[in-house]
Amino acid sequence: MKQIYLDNASTTPVRPEVLEAMMPYFAEDFGNPSSLYPAGQRASDAVAAARATLAGLIGAKPSEVYFTSGGSEADNWAIKGFARANAGKGRHLITSAIEHHAVLHACEALEREGFEVTYLPVDGDGLVDPAAFEAAIRPDTILASVMFANNEIGTIEPIAELAAIARAHGVAFHTDAVQAFGHEDIDVRELGIDLLSASAHKLNGPKGVGMLYARKGVKLANLIDGGQQERGRRATTENVPGIVGFAKAAELACAEAAGERERQTAIRDHAIARVLAEIPHARLNGSATRRLSNNVNFSFEFIEGEGMLLQLAARGICVSSGSACTSGSLDPSHVLLAIGLPHEIAHGSLRLTLGRDTTREDVDFAIDCLKQTLGNLRMMSPLYEDYQQGRVESIIEKMAA
Ligand SMILES: *Cc1c(COP(=O)(O)O)cnc(C)c1O
Repeated sequence: MKQIYLDNASTTPVRPEVLEAMMPYFAEDFGNPSSLYPAGQRASDAVAAARATLAGLIGAKPSEVYFTSGGSEADNWAIKGFARANAGKGRHLITSAIEHHAVLHACEALEREGFEVTYLPVDGDGLVDPAAFEAAIRPDTILASVMFANNEIGTIEPIAELAAIARAHGVAFHTDAVQAFGHEDIDVRELGIDLLSASAHKLNGPKGVGMLYARKGVKLANLIDGGQQERGRRATTENVPGIVGFAKAAELACAEAAGERERQTAIRDHAIARVLAEIPHARLNGSATRRLSNNVNFSFEFIEGEGMLLQLAARGICVSSGSACTSGSLDPSHVLLAIGLPHEIAHGSLRLTLGRDTTREDVDFAIDCLKQTLGNLRMMSPLYEDYQQGRVESIIEKMAA
């Protein structure tokens, strides 16, 4: 059975060019970058070149890029590292209600240390309101963290506007750009970003490597004490193949981003139009316009997302209901609740995220299967029976009205 992978917001396959770039650093040029003999220096040169490439792709200096084990680590370092190093100036942080758990749980950890955190609500499209953001800033606010683009519903936040407000008030600004890097154009100087997180495995690079950009002059507590790696702030021998693969994957993704955005947007909008036209009681989640080109997220009434997921998986279609971290738990996604979906609607949600290999045919096949699956599941649903008998109303219809 052919597998149709439509879960690229969870992770992506490593591209052949990336694998090829990484290969020499496993066994041939395996030296420790801290060693002075040639094998070590070749590894050290490769890490330096990767750092320069990645810095260039976001308009930063190489000395402002720190390698991490992924997006979660970069988020944790940015938030806890900044808060702990700057607690003398204030102990208040601002973030949004729809952040990735790496940001939300890092903020909760800080709350247990005595910091205060404001979790800004979002509107029905998942957007943070800049005026509400500005109103939340207090004299003791030191850091704000708002994601570049949401991993569940694809909403792209007004980052330039938010960062400008933060800067005008002397508040540092962090953005989790894990879903945006390699897709959207990012220039940290133009956007006024002080801290930015990114991860390799969301852009066809390897798992277990990411980066934190920290603008020169931003005070950050060390993450790992030990040797002199990452300028003494994150000791541990560098993941040389991973770092090389990250740079290669990001270079390719950024070079192809404009073309891929256009190609994927056409497939995305075709998928959205088909679902809304052909499947009753369906609702698009997230903004129709300020949206990642690879993200489609729907709620379907009178069914459970898990049931859909399993039936689609049986036909080779890999999609997700909510975020990977939340599936397996019974609580509906915090993102879907934050955009105002009632629990029963949030439970029937499905996310399809396109990748560089996704074709229109793949998406059409997935939607054909989805239509059949939904039809079958609704036939067996007592709730749907109640609706058809006129005993309950459609919530989605009421929300649209
Ligand atoms: C995947 C993801 C992360 C976590 O990245 P890892 O490299 O898997 O730790 C953080 N934030 C967002 C928005 C993500 O999509």
